[in-house]
Amino acid sequence: MKLRHALLLALALSPIGNAFALPQHSPVPGGVAVIDLGPASQPTPTARWGEQALAVVKGKGRWYALLGIPLDTLPGEMEISVFFGSTVGTTTGTALAPSVATIKYVAVRVKNYPEQRLTIKDKRKVEPNPEDLARIERERETTEAVKRRFSPPAPATNFALPASGPLSSRFGLRRIFNGLPRNPHAGLDVAVGTGAPIKAPADGVVANTGDYFFNGNTVFIDHGQGLISAYMHLSRIDVRHGQPVKKGEILGAVGATGRVTGPHLHWAVILNNTPVDPELFLGQP
Ligand SMILES: [Zn+2]
Repeated sequence: MKLRHALLLALALSPIGNAFALPQHSPVPGGVAVIDLGPASQPTPTARWGEQALAVVKGKGRWYALLGIPLDTLPGEMEISVFFGSTVGTTTGTALAPSVATIKYVAVRVKNYPEQRLTIKDKRKVEPNPEDLARIERERETTEAVKRRFSPPAPATNFALPASGPLSSRFGLRRIFNGLPRNPHAGLDVAVGTGAPIKAPADGVVANTGDYFFNGNTVFIDHGQGLISAYMHLSRIDVRHGQPVKKGEILGAVGATGRVTGPHLHWAVILNNTPVDPELFLGQP
């Protein structure tokens, strides 16, 4: 009996296997705000930031909205609208019963990300030619559409690290390539050699695969409600567009395709069409 109690306690305390673990609340540029919407006994609320729908997840008996905060956000207040209307049947299907929006405020704090200087041997990856620029523009349209997806299932937010290795370049670094300022580092790098397996951090559906100018061989996974993850610079892709994947399933292998200094996994997490720090989804240490 005592042993059983000890086991149950160990299970209750273990972060592993807790499907309802929320991301870490970090209201900074590139962070995630976890916004309490009240007890889960009431019908599922919906939440919006402007026109953008937000993920709403259940945890510890309450509803929470998840807001990904863009890297270029200035300190101050962000405003989200919450609707507690219930879904009602009509002759033409279902419709959201009219309800008044409740406004919630998120106080965004300052975060200064360090600078990183990198040297890329393939100069075209830093100063693309006109042909490259046309390709980059086409690819941008494709990947932007993937990042805008908002599919109905509520996402699992307790991610596992998709590759086994030390974390190298962290999210948000201000990047200078060959002396030229470029976009900040919108993901997390795992230092691991070519051929190492990359595993799905949570359940989802493959939303896109492709070979992109900067990102190399890439896989996007849609986890639901605007939570998307991406795996870049792969040497090999093992999944197909539209394929459902389970947590731990192999997506492909680490490589050095695209704009890189060497083999590694670049892992990106996108929430409400906003790249956010993947480490916030890895659970409390
Ligand atoms: Zn990276």
